[in-house]
Amino acid sequence: MNIALEEHCIVPCLSGYLERAMPKVSPGAHKQLMAALADFGDVRLAAMDAGGVALAVLSISGPGVQAEPDPAVAIKLAREANDLLATEVQRRPESYAGFAHLAMQDAAAAAAAEELERSVHDLGFVGAMVNGHTNGIYLDDPRYAPFWERMQALDVPLYLHPGDSYELPYVLKGCDELLKPTREWTTETSTHFLRLIFAGVFDRYPRLKIILGHMGETLPFMLWRLDSRAAFIYGGRPLKEPPSAYLKRNLYVTTSGQCSNVPLMAALTALGDAHVMFSIDYPYENSAVARRFIESAAIRDTVRAKVSRLNAMRLMRLAA
Ligand code: ZN
Repeated sequence: MNIALEEHCIVPCLSGYLERAMPKVSPGAHKQLMAALADFGDVRLAAMDAGGVALAVLSISGPGVQAEPDPAVAIKLAREANDLLATEVQRRPESYAGFAHLAMQDAAAAAAAEELERSVHDLGFVGAMVNGHTNGIYLDDPRYAPFWERMQALDVPLYLHPGDSYELPYVLKGCDELLKPTREWTTETSTHFLRLIFAGVFDRYPRLKIILGHMGETLPFMLWRLDSRAAFIYGGRPLKEPPSAYLKRNLYVTTSGQCSNVPLMAALTALGDAHVMFSIDYPYENSAVARRFIESAAIRDTVRAKVSRLNAMRLMRLAA
């Protein structure tokens, strides 16, 4: 059986933010997605069955409170959402675990650290999920130092999930087919992770564990080139190690939304088999397809067991 880490849900107090950010899909698909996200019972459990998922780590489908302009409102709603999610997790602890939802507004960075700690210690969550930048501020900004310090001390992972660009890159203008999951989010999220490397966040907090979905948002393909070109460019901020060292040490990736052997092989080869974990991206991806993919992938069974569940169990200290 599998453990899955990018499995989304929604709670009533945050559904408005999701409605406004949802990718353009048919009205029928939109309705079905919203209903699946709001369900914590039979619909979700049946999909988990189809995906061979024994335990789903649930997260609020973004952007959530990160899209809220008022930090005080964002802090309040994040707490409310975490309490609601915790209630659902506690109702079915054998099937669900939770990632904290956090207000990352600049004025709330200290509050985010507090809410993370409350979520882990009091609610039993196993980490947090953040949906890209918050009002144009990325996580390499110095104001997040207290947050990273707390995250490292708590020794829980941060799932860095895609979110919309702050401003639409010029290259995407006039090509709506490439917006959001097709391309926009990939560039946005992989670059966000690279900002953490080049700002020295992993030199200051070497035990941070960041999870990227979608087989690492293309980063496993890029290690050699990143090292080569970072050494070529003059005047960059000094790093203790070449970029690839941080990718191998601080990055974990999931198979969410990437049911394909080529990126799986790239991730396993580049990062090692301890850093790749199964996920689906429910309900945006098909659970049965994800299951077939991992069960039939051309990897040894010892590696499959690590990817399917053992790595997640170790990373989040989950019981067998
Ligand atoms: Zn997702």
